[in-house]
Amino acid sequence: KMDEDRKKFDFTHLDLNELLATFLESTRERLTGTGFSIRYDCPDRVPQIRADKDAILQIIYNLVDNAIKFSGKSRQIDIRLFAIEDELQLSVKDYGIGISGKDQEKIFDRFYRADEPRQMGIKGSGIGLTIVKRITEAHQGQLTIESKPGEGSTFCVHLPIDKNTET
Ligand code: ADP
Repeated sequence: KMDEDRKKFDFTHLDLNELLATFLESTRERLTGTGFSIRYDCPDRVPQIRADKDAILQIIYNLVDNAIKFSGKSRQIDIRLFAIEDELQLSVKDYGIGISGKDQEKIFDRFYRADEPRQMGIKGSGIGLTIVKRITEAHQGQLTIESKPGEGSTFCVHLPIDKNTET
């Protein structure tokens, strides 16, 4: 798995809205019967980015997978796409167990997992977010978290808009 670190990225023009729509279709199907509901919100016009489609899909998959795993009793996940200045931002929000301030500094470290999910018996390897961060940075982007224990977490991926295709 770690060898994927050396994978070369294939940057092309990417319509993130289209990618998310496809992802959501199969994910909603996969979640049928689990009670989970995913809301999706995006602007009328989504600016294009230059990105590696598979890598971006891996980001989305990891963040949504975590949102599901750490949802606690909640069954609601909100995905939003929005453009702010020269960035396209993709946020994944859950209303689950949340992350303490101390853990927020560490969860991007390889193999790090907070105490709470371990005590709760939630399985994981602690590399998902390391990969998400690495891919985001390879796209000249940034990853931010907002979270409160017991209230939930929002992970936001900031990606630069591709100026050449802006309409
Ligand atoms: P894994 O999910 O395999 O444990 P990750 O690297 O994806 O590994 O996440 C690292 C740790 O960050 C998790 O073990 C958990 O403690 C915390 N975490 C990640 N996403 C969330 C979330 N949505 N809500 C609460 N905690 C989270």
